[in-house]
Amino acid sequence: MHFASDNAGPVHPKVLEALAAANEGHVGSYGADPVTAEAVARIREIFEAPEASVHFVATGTAANVLSLASYAQPYHTVFCSDVAHIHEDECNAPEFYTGGAKLTLVPTEDGRMTASALRETIAAEESRGVHGPQRGPVSITQITERGTLYSRGDLTALCEVAKDFGLPVHMDGARFANALVDLDCTPAEMTWKAGVDVVSFGGTKNGLMGAEAVVFFDPAKAWEFELRRKRGGHLFSKHRYLAAQMNAYLEEDLWLELARAANGARELLQAGLSGMNDVSFAYEPSGNMMFPTFTAGDHRRLFEAGAVYHIWGGTLDGAADEARLTARLVCDWSTGPEAVDHFLDTLRG
Ligand SMILES: *Cc1c(COP(=O)(O)O)cnc(C)c1O
Repeated sequence: MHFASDNAGPVHPKVLEALAAANEGHVGSYGADPVTAEAVARIREIFEAPEASVHFVATGTAANVLSLASYAQPYHTVFCSDVAHIHEDECNAPEFYTGGAKLTLVPTEDGRMTASALRETIAAEESRGVHGPQRGPVSITQITERGTLYSRGDLTALCEVAKDFGLPVHMDGARFANALVDLDCTPAEMTWKAGVDVVSFGGTKNGLMGAEAVVFFDPAKAWEFELRRKRGGHLFSKHRYLAAQMNAYLEEDLWLELARAANGARELLQAGLSGMNDVSFAYEPSGNMMFPTFTAGDHRRLFEAGAVYHIWGGTLDGAADEARLTARLVCDWSTGPEAVDHFLDTLRG
């Protein structure tokens, strides 16, 4: 019953096999190898973007902040939601890698920025001439940190606001595949066709050991990204081991299969929880993540039975048994129906 995060899950065996298969002889370093060339070609193909510049890094934070740094000068501000990973969970890496750009937060109710809130926030910035920050890129997380999903219409509307101000758009796709299978659209439709300029294409949370791709749909930033990645200490010399993971991920649509499995486990858990009287959801669940609310007594019973997850926005310590607290439950590709059933049975008492 491990629902703490999708990066707590194992690496898919096919990925480990691909690593072993790539572990043969000598090849060029720093990305000058055939395994990397293959991974780049595969990414361009799935995004229907033959010109795209594709780069691999080992963490989602590196993917996000190196992308943003390629668009943000030190005197810029990056527009993102008030619960964005780049704001809450990257230890000021965006500020560090951009050399001092700041973040301007767009208020949200459920992790999703609305086009009107984004427009208002952007409009209010850059009103102080040389004294204030200049407007920089917009960053959108899909699915959001609250497990909510932007529709294609939502994404297009956000990108249109950014374009009205002449700003580039970054997508934090740490859970790109989970969003994609829910939206049932193509990677191109969820990104460049909606107006996204660069995407952090996640893999680690969906079965890789540690590999993410950064995809710029306009290759103009390719060289700058290369320089920033090296300077930032994120250019892997034995690059084939990042690329081999990505190749296994994309081969025969493994990535979509794994995302469907994770989302399916979430749906199963959600269906069980929805049937219980006193369970409500803090946000509309999608992808592989949800935030159900139930009593502290129930949380205690689950933890005693061995469940692992985070309490969100509160603490169980000293809470009365009737107090209502929200859980963050995240499924990954390996979450089996047994774990879901065990969780639901424990909650039913
Ligand atoms: C997990 C996650 C990342 C990447 O985190 P790393 O720990 O740096 O790999 C980025 N964005 C979101 C929304 C995430 O959930």
